[in-house]
Amino acid sequence: MALITRSVSVHFGGVVALSDVTIGFESGVVSGVVGPNGSGKTTLFNALAGFVKLADGTVVMDEQPLDRLRPYQRLQPGILARTLQTPRSDPDMTVRESILCGFYGSLRAGMLRSMLRTPAVRRGEAGARRQVDDIIGALGLGPFADMRVGGAPIGIVRLTDVGRAMAADPKYLLLDEPAAGLDEEERARLAAKIVDVARSGVGVVLIEHNFPLIRLVCDVVTVLNNGQQIAHGTPGEVSREPQVVDAYLGK
Ligand code: ADP
Repeated sequence: MALITRSVSVHFGGVVALSDVTIGFESGVVSGVVGPNGSGKTTLFNALAGFVKLADGTVVMDEQPLDRLRPYQRLQPGILARTLQTPRSDPDMTVRESILCGFYGSLRAGMLRSMLRTPAVRRGEAGARRQVDDIIGALGLGPFADMRVGGAPIGIVRLTDVGRAMAADPKYLLLDEPAAGLDEEERARLAAKIVDVARSGVGVVLIEHNFPLIRLVCDVVTVLNNGQQIAHGTPGEVSREPQVVDAYLGK
């Protein structure tokens, strides 16, 4: 099972943001995407999530082409979840409520069933709370669970976003620089949780600038430069490629 960009190109006017990029992001694996600013990483995520028009190529998930699906149809619980560089959790919600929101989409309880609070819905709610507690514990968010997101430090806000995406129980999880602004302890906890999520069968795709974190969590890495894929392999392998050192690591 894999999420694949097959010969994908994306243009913005005269700018070629991605050029003939073919990458497979496999289930159960943490895949990293690295490269200098402007190399096409965010555009790649936008192509996977359906936010940009492809000039060429196709996006395939578990052998099904996604091209006809709109972003809201792809970013469904059980399918794709994504975090953005700028966290999007509602500042008025608590950390716990925000993560619970990610889960609630996945209950698929109809409005009427929710209002009637049928036994199935109540069982679902109990399960949701347990699962949210697990995520809160694993991400070390316990002391902050009842804090308003708007009043929490950036590291906590970022972890809350990651927790909400995890709660949606996606097949593929796209994380855009989830560790930016985290301290070392938060980063280590996040790294462990990312690996756990992947080992449970989820395909995790990670845009990340911090190469030590890439080494820690990624099974494979793709390096982009000027919209092109210039290397693919284990973190150790790509870090020895001269063109990767020139374009990215040497800076
Ligand atoms: P990265 O995430 O690696 O920093 P991006 O995917 O954001 O790179 O950008 C790749 C290229 O596409 C850059 O040259 C950027 O300026 C351009 N680009 C990205 N989004 C747009 C847009 N909406 N309109 C025009 N150009 C864009």
